[in-house]
Amino acid sequence: MILRFDKLAVDLTMPTNPSPNSAAAIQELLGGKFGEMSTLMNYTFQSFNFRGRSKARPYYDLIANIAAEEYSHIELVSYTINLLLSGSTKRGTDPTTAPLKNATDARNSYHFLASGQTALPMDSMGNPWNGSYVFSSGNLKLDLLHNFFLECGARANKIRAYEMVDDPTARQMVGYLLVRGGVHVVAYARALERLTGADLSKLFPIPDISNKKFPEARKLEEKGLHRIMYRFSPTDFKELDKVWNGTHPEDGSELIVEDTIPEGFDPPDLPEEPQLTAPGIDMEMFNDVAKKLFGNEGGKGKSARTKRK
Ligand code: MN
Ligand code: MN
Repeated sequence: MILRFDKLAVDLTMPTNPSPNSAAAIQELLGGKFGEMSTLMNYTFQSFNFRGRSKARPYYDLIANIAAEEYSHIELVSYTINLLLSGSTKRGTDPTTAPLKNATDARNSYHFLASGQTALPMDSMGNPWNGSYVFSSGNLKLDLLHNFFLECGARANKIRAYEMVDDPTARQMVGYLLVRGGVHVVAYARALERLTGADLSKLFPIPDISNKKFPEARKLEEKGLHRIMYRFSPTDFKELDKVWNGTHPEDGSELIVEDTIPEGFDPPDLPEEPQLTAPGIDMEMFNDVAKKLFGNEGGKGKSARTKRK
């Protein structure tokens, strides 16, 4: 089971440059082959499908625990897309002014046609995320090797997305993901090392550019965020430290497991976009309908059931 907190891992502020095309690029980090939906679903299925977990408990704990963290990354990327799209067309209720005219020049028209200027489970080209991105072979070594590759591929996409967008909010989010994704790269490398004796530290970093080159990521690494594995459960995943231990392959800092997850920040309250009828609640009409149905002012807390008494 998952316990959900209505918080975000990063304090996302209103973008200074709302941009549908930046939002389209960031979609790759959500629903692309190497996006956060893929990491979430890969580790989620691998944890459900894990055979012989009592003999390989630390590896099960690692995969299941990282799966939980990936849920928080989906939230972050989605909110960033939503913020980049907020206010990117003309707000209003008059359709004859062609309020969505700008959208015809946006790379991704689904953001306007199929959603209320918000994120969808698709990649930067509008291809829907699909289940073939999930690799769950049942062979532990192979799955871990795949996860190491997946996190490196994800890292490459994050770096390129960072290079495509200049909005500070988007870069803040990508910087955070680079650091946390870096933790996962090291975690799967450590798991393979513990399991096989191979020395993967010689491969780091892939691609060969340090997170410290990205100012937003560097600040977080200076706070030690790249060496912490958060335990995403109050009672379980107790054997994380059997894999997550030793030193970081890039800077030699000590790897630590933390029992509490960060408090987080309130998610942004997304403004209405009336030209898309999003959310499309006309309070006057709502009250009018409620009056006809229940004979009282709508929205005052009286349901049909209480009325009947
Ligand atoms: Mn992630
Ligand atoms: Mn990851």
